[in-house]
Amino acid sequence: MMHKVEPKVFLVGETKIVKEGLNGFLKHVGVPKWKSDASTDLEKIIEVMGRLCYRSFEPGLNKNVKKVREHNKDYLENIKKVKHGSVIEHPVLNFIFTDVSRVFTHELVRHRAGTAISQESLRFVRLDDLGQWLPTVIYEDEKAVEIFVKTFKHLEKLQLELAEYFKLDDEAMPFHKKKVITSAMRRIAPIGLATTIGWSANPRTLRWVLEMRTDPNAEEEIRLVFGKVADIVAKRYPNLFCDYEIEMTDGLPWYKTKNSKV
Ligand SMILES: Cc1cc2nc3c(=O)[nH]c(=O)nc-3n(C[C@H](O)[C@H](O)[C@H](O)COP(=O)(O)OP(=O)(O)OC[C@H]3O[C@@H](n4cnc5c(N)ncnc54)[C@H](O)[C@@H]3O)c2cc1C
Repeated sequence: MMHKVEPKVFLVGETKIVKEGLNGFLKHVGVPKWKSDASTDLEKIIEVMGRLCYRSFEPGLNKNVKKVREHNKDYLENIKKVKHGSVIEHPVLNFIFTDVSRVFTHELVRHRAGTAISQESLRFVRLDDLGQWLPTVIYEDEKAVEIFVKTFKHLEKLQLELAEYFKLDDEAMPFHKKKVITSAMRRIAPIGLATTIGWSANPRTLRWVLEMRTDPNAEEEIRLVFGKVADIVAKRYPNLFCDYEIEMTDGLPWYKTKNSKV
């Protein structure tokens, strides 16, 4: 039966360094002992990819380079400042967002550059138990909640009725026909229904999406989700995301940075 949900964010993957490969490269370029003080592979990879451009692993490795930034934090800060954003495209972060609506997923997929997407298929998945998250403007209004709940229940009932009418659970029903009917039935499902999407992005993309989608002009649900994303990445990759300031608006965090759209 219809149930209430809260959008959730899971960080399920991140880029890792292949130690033998990196050691091999550092030996090749003449700095076998080079080390980074980055706390994560993701931030270290960005530093390596940036430093290889000028061979700026240590002073004098490239005779034109007399000084180098020593710390990963300073190195990444400078990359952001000079907007050498292509360097931070190298790693990838893999997220799964669950109990998010199709309103959210449609807004999310508008961000094309640097992303990969896998969305729960409503051609295949039966909508016999609709999850629903209520935006504040609805949640705080008793009458509006009543209308939302009534409508969701009704639409869920229609899904069950159609499934019965088409005998979707009959053993004899061929799989391809089930798929065609299930796909047709979703047309009368609400776009507020809870679903799942896998979303991978490189940190350059992620920084841009954080900016745009935690902004007070963005929709409440996507602000809620990217506020959670920002909280995860700011803690996990401190050097890469330390330039953000948080301002709370309408109970949600707005992540702002002087290094806009790196
Ligand atoms: C508050 C808000 C309201 C919105 N309202 C609407 C609306 O009413 N209707 C609507 O259709 N959309 C709307 N959108 C979506 C918006 O128009 C963008 O499609 C979405 O935010 C994706 O951002 P992006 O264009 O930066 O693309 P991304 O895919 O995130 O790309 C990042 C950057 O890469 C560059 N880039 C990407 N693709 C190309 C390309 N093909 N050519 C050149 N450069 C490229 C651009 O610099 C771009 O900013 C809204 C978004 C927000 C945040």
